[in-house]
Amino acid sequence: MKITGVKTFLMHVGNPPPDAIATATTTQRGHTWSARNWLFVKVYTDDGITGLGECSGWPRVIETAVQDLAPLVLGEDPFDIERLWQKMLIATMGHGMTGIVGSGAMNGIDMALWDIKGKALKTPVYNLLGGKVRDHIRIYGHAGTPERALSLKERGITGVKTGGVVNTVEKVDAIRKAVGDEMDIMVDAHGPPWFTTKDAILVGRALEPYSLLFYEDPVAPENVDAIARVQDAVNIPIAAGERHSNIWGARQLIERELVDVLQPDTGRVGGITQLKKLAAMAESHYIMIAPHSGSLGPVAEFAALHVLAAIPNGLILERVEDDVPIRYKVAHPVLKQEKGFLKVPDGPGLGVEIDEEVVRANPSRGNVSVPGDPADGAYEPGTWDEHVYIQQRYRRGTSLKRFK
Ligand SMILES: [Mg+2]
Repeated sequence: MKITGVKTFLMHVGNPPPDAIATATTTQRGHTWSARNWLFVKVYTDDGITGLGECSGWPRVIETAVQDLAPLVLGEDPFDIERLWQKMLIATMGHGMTGIVGSGAMNGIDMALWDIKGKALKTPVYNLLGGKVRDHIRIYGHAGTPERALSLKERGITGVKTGGVVNTVEKVDAIRKAVGDEMDIMVDAHGPPWFTTKDAILVGRALEPYSLLFYEDPVAPENVDAIARVQDAVNIPIAAGERHSNIWGARQLIERELVDVLQPDTGRVGGITQLKKLAAMAESHYIMIAPHSGSLGPVAEFAALHVLAAIPNGLILERVEDDVPIRYKVAHPVLKQEKGFLKVPDGPGLGVEIDEEVVRANPSRGNVSVPGDPADGAYEPGTWDEHVYIQQRYRRGTSLKRFK
């Protein structure tokens, strides 16, 4: 079998429904949701089998990177996944090799190759990864209010994550009271330095009584020593990893045991090849895997399910299931959660296909997140339009008061 073509499918994802905006965290509201894009990749072969993959990271840019990489795999045997992955990596040397654009592009092609191999061998991808250790994958949803958390619970979902940027302790307290002890709660501080490291520790300590499943990106994840300080000082499992690509990007988090939960993004980590290796590295340090999926489309979700089915240290999968209705139009079959779990797909390959018409009908119209407006309340009045990454959002007294 030979690879005969690589094609990209870039689409605008559209606005979330009004109720999702109303219940989003401040950080989510502060971003231009309408700028979300999904990028799918199809790899074609001379015997008619096609493979499907997905890329995240910066889809409009990654689309060009995929097109640049495509000639490297044309004419190659799609079964040689590791060799082709290495060939693509070397080709990105002039672009820095370990960044999310290169990894995002390789991610889509790699995922499609696993899909092709599964289809050719008439077996699901999880069988190529060692076989199933579980049939169902537990998921968690997002909630900014107790009401929203309760509605997830009523749908059977057993885990909920809330934003940790303002009024975090108060919010977690209200959610815990609403949903009881049987639902897992997670807090995501979203990485940017909303907190100094000391304040991330203070907030983390205040959250200790709530038995969180994890405290995510308490500090900017670029600063691994700051993560180490939070890890040492706070008795909550620490989670990070959504911004890191490939085994080298996440290596320190694993080897130094800076996280208890690793959150590779299934669209930009470098594909199923990297996910499986990272999971093994994490396993040797007793670190669990909870793939990041906040802004991804449905194809990456299928890939995450196959990997989580086949690794011993799969914890839970992030799933924002009612963000955009188009999620359920662009790909089939549609996965439905039951009692807080998704059934692992049993079709050959990944078991998912996209509707190319839906992609064509939704052309990309831009692809950056920008801060919202001063009314979001996440910045000291008068400082919102400074647009800098590194700043304390409030005077410290005010800031910490907001976390009580
Ligand atoms: Mg996150």
